[in-house]
Amino acid sequence: MRALIISDKVEPILYSGGICDRVGKIDLILSCGDLPFYYIEFIISMLNKPAYYVMGNHGREFEYQSGKGDDAWNHQTSPQGAVNLHGHTAKEGPLLLAGLEGSIRYNDSAEAQYTDFEMRWNIAGLIPRLVRNRLRYGRWLDVLVAHSPPFGIHDQPDPAHRGFPSFLPFMRFFKPRYLLHGHIHLYRQNLTTVTKYQQTEVINVYPFRILELEPGVVANG
Ligand SMILES: [Zn+2]
Repeated sequence: MRALIISDKVEPILYSGGICDRVGKIDLILSCGDLPFYYIEFIISMLNKPAYYVMGNHGREFEYQSGKGDDAWNHQTSPQGAVNLHGHTAKEGPLLLAGLEGSIRYNDSAEAQYTDFEMRWNIAGLIPRLVRNRLRYGRWLDVLVAHSPPFGIHDQPDPAHRGFPSFLPFMRFFKPRYLLHGHIHLYRQNLTTVTKYQQTEVINVYPFRILELEPGVVANG
């Protein structure tokens, strides 16, 4: 499926009436977080395709921004028309999706930050759904939609941009074909954005990417 994946930055090329010409035929919209809802909603309304999202660590802030003027107090908790994938799985066409929001905890704000121990609990919550996938389709999942990268892959040494160590055993065991993330803003051309880890392609999608996502191979045994 041809997916438009967005993250972290409102991209003028996409936030314009010419988006359909720019992106071509799209089957699926995925958001890896830290985006204002109006932007996600705009893209959904223009492309009219299924959309899934996870919150970034700044997710809560962006909620409040979405209500302006008279309805400033009437804030939204999710972008309209998009499904929150955090802690959930979904099947879209042939693709098995799952999501894990937020970043590693680096201060005491109430935003979507988790210690790695808490992220393990988020992963544990996914397991019954992944088992159901495995029984029904022969594989656990194809795409993990995350905000943060895994530890040691595309992450950075400062506390706010360290990746989750728990994503590494997750990839080794559940073998998603893709782990899509944002959170790491790219200011230099030469930063690595695609890394193969075991059977998973880890891809930093900041600020957007169009990818042909294929389902994983059915595992034996
Ligand atoms: Zn972030």
